Amino acid sequence: MTATDTGASTSATATSAGSEEDLLARVSAPQGQGRQIREPATGAVLGAAPVHSKQDLDAAVAAARAAQPAWAASGHEQRSQVLLRMADRIDALAEPLARLLAREQGKPLNGPNARFEVGACSAWLRATAATTLEPQVVVDDGATRAELTYRPVGVVGAIGPWNWPLMITIWQVAPALRMGNAVVVKPSEYTPLSVLALISILNEELPEGVLSAVSGEGEVGARLASHPDVDKVMFTGSTATGRRIIESSAGNLARLTLELGGNDAGIVLPDADPQAIADGLFWGAFINTGQTCAALKRLYVHDSLYEEVVDALADVARAMPMGASLDETSVLGPLQNKQQFDVVARLVEDAKQRGGRIVTGGQPATELGELFFPVTLIADLKDGDPLVDEEQFGPALPIIRYSEIDDAVASANRLEAGLGASVWSADPAAARAVAERIQAGTVWINSHGGVHPMVPFGGVKGSGYGLEFGVEGLKAVAAPQVISAASPTIAPTA
Ligand code: NAD
Repeated sequence: MTATDTGASTSATATSAGSEEDLLARVSAPQGQGRQIREPATGAVLGAAPVHSKQDLDAAVAAARAAQPAWAASGHEQRSQVLLRMADRIDALAEPLARLLAREQGKPLNGPNARFEVGACSAWLRATAATTLEPQVVVDDGATRAELTYRPVGVVGAIGPWNWPLMITIWQVAPALRMGNAVVVKPSEYTPLSVLALISILNEELPEGVLSAVSGEGEVGARLASHPDVDKVMFTGSTATGRRIIESSAGNLARLTLELGGNDAGIVLPDADPQAIADGLFWGAFINTGQTCAALKRLYVHDSLYEEVVDALADVARAMPMGASLDETSVLGPLQNKQQFDVVARLVEDAKQRGGRIVTGGQPATELGELFFPVTLIADLKDGDPLVDEEQFGPALPIIRYSEIDDAVASANRLEAGLGASVWSADPAAARAVAERIQAGTVWINSHGGVHPMVPFGGVKGSGYGLEFGVEGLKAVAAPQVISAASPTIAPTA
């Protein structure tokens, strides 16, 4: 099967018919072929994803290369219109897409989960359509007029994770298309079907070859990242894979945007109101059942209000229903895969052995299904404990006591990760002073993890480099070009 046989990569052959089964039929591997995908909440087989070969990948990149110049020539206005129409198509199929996402990824329909994620896809497309990257006159001194302009880079490889598979695909694809690039997407092997369905919907508005997808495991991503005809790699995933992509870029000199793992700290200052911040802390940590790059992953609370914050958080946690993805009452779901479940179970078990105090949760919720782990708050842990130092990427939050703010800042900064962080306080100036001392791409004050299509987002240190969203996000998928014009009345220098 070739990449263009999947329906995920062809243009306009599919129609906008109505259920998640229709979407699945568009993108599934032929009967008896492909890689079986199971629903995390139930263990039932959802479908089979195509597994693309090296030849398929080469064909997709060649098609992208061939289609890109005409797409670039179509101009910003036309491409923006295409993005707007894509958003309308997603809205028209929002419910089946959300159901497919819920079944494949495991996240519930409600809460900040599947319906929310699909809504974010069309919102991001519309915002990206409305964003412009203007040329900038950098020198105009009578002798020279130098203008910084932005051209498409060419072919973009977009490699994504399984936690927010649709939204992150749109984060990569929308600016790349907007700037006149062609894109080849490699979805996570855990959540390929929903991403292929999304690509198939987007392709209803695109010329053939401009956007395609290759599906398979890590080696397909490795081939895409190292392909000699790929000019830019947008990668979102683990820091370990990010390092491999940096190595492969030595071969093809691809530009990179690397959105890697996080271990975000939150610091609660002594003047915070525990009741007022409990809900924000909870969703900061447990959005998508904790499987979020910029989730709050370790919480530092001042000694003076430690127990009050722990109690307030526990009250919120106990009120949040966890359950099957298609159950309308659930707002928390299973871990997406066994590997991640095992990471969370191991770190929680280890934290118990080290004297961590289980406030809520602590044991797998086997009554719900094989991959469910309840919201687990663990108090009295310290720096150096693996649940604090490693990225848990799941519903377990270590809560650490501090008494000196300098120590809390040092704790926040001591790890390799530098994606996000937050400071919680009734005093905005005090919070800001702490925020400025934290080594992270974003520091939120009195919230955690919110993103906005016009606000640049990206990590520092081990969380990668490059920015997404807004004007900075468009620059990241563009090749800068300076047009430098000498005044005709002035002789050029030797
Ligand atoms: P992962 O690195 O295992 O996989 C991500 C993607 O890379 C998958 O599509 C995979 O097939 C592919 N891949 C694997 N090996 C590859 C290789 N050698 N070359 C190229 N591609 C390869 O990550 P994951 O487990 O899917 O995602 C979880 C991680 O992603 C967490 O660490 C999380 O913090 C991070 N993440 C970061 C952000 C962000 O914006 N910074 C957002 C979401 C997730």
